[in-house]
Amino acid sequence: MTQTGAQKYAFFQGSFVPLEHAKVSVMTHAFNYGTGVFEGIRGYWNEQDRCVYILRLREHYVRFLKNTRMVCIEVPFDADELVELTLKLMSMHDFREDVYIRPLAYKSSEQIGVSMKGVKDDLTIFCTPFGNYIDIDRGLSLCVSSWKRTDDNAIPGRAKVTGNYVNSALVKNEALMNGFDEGICLNSQGFVVEGSTENIFIVRDGALITPSVADGILEGITRDCIISVARDELGLDTMARPVARTELYYADEVFLTGTGAQVAPVTSIDHRAIGKGDVGPVTGKIQTLYLDAVRGRIPRYMDWLTRANITAMSGMARVSAR
Ligand code: PMP
Repeated sequence: MTQTGAQKYAFFQGSFVPLEHAKVSVMTHAFNYGTGVFEGIRGYWNEQDRCVYILRLREHYVRFLKNTRMVCIEVPFDADELVELTLKLMSMHDFREDVYIRPLAYKSSEQIGVSMKGVKDDLTIFCTPFGNYIDIDRGLSLCVSSWKRTDDNAIPGRAKVTGNYVNSALVKNEALMNGFDEGICLNSQGFVVEGSTENIFIVRDGALITPSVADGILEGITRDCIISVARDELGLDTMARPVARTELYYADEVFLTGTGAQVAPVTSIDHRAIGKGDVGPVTGKIQTLYLDAVRGRIPRYMDWLTRANITAMSGMARVSAR
């Protein structure tokens, strides 16, 4: 149920404005050179509790601030203040559906030249209704991409830099053009890194394996959730280590994880069936547990969720939209 007619707002240049006023110049540094750092955060509508539960909100902002520091973008708020700004923004909307929240800190000066010296920084946060990013109700067909993941010493993947998503877009686009659902990137040593916007797990002989944080991955928050759920609910430890490309074809099961992808089963890679070619039992259980946890159905994981009240200011939002 998308709120097509509802007014939307963004946090932009220090205040909350209607989304259509949150605009930047074509001369903006970040628009020209990709000098932005962003986050992707999901909120899940809970019909019973009449609220949106935002998943691991503070952890996303802790990562965001590590990354903005790495890329020398100044954000004049700490993680708790960013949480508060986000909850205020959510309260200005009338969501009754799943939501995606996008904070973006960027080099905002209007100038020619890549230098970041003396360049101004800005922060925006916007949110929008959001369903499945990729199909999670069937097994996906993947390919190993001909595009390598950008090196940690070129554009660090873990930094979630806007410019780096050219690499992700090339991977995804190549996969779609060749009839696959998604592509898998290797690093310059030839080890598996991740999907275009997802971390990857394989199940081999009953164990979970995922590329390590030194292999060029983005340190996924969903990845962390899955490691916890697998350990605490299924008694499965995860080994984080380099994964060879051909281990993908040896795997009994493969799945992708991410804020967008959630838990997406993979049943074929490069036209080779994974396991029996069906969604595997471990993947199925992990997907169910994850989706229950993020919707607030498992008490043990309620501390992952921040309640966003969507009714407090929605009346006001509707009035000013007229
Ligand atoms: N890798 C990349 C390249 C991504 O863009 C994402 C999405 N943020 C992920 C992995 C998964 O990270 P998370 O679980 O924090 O969304």
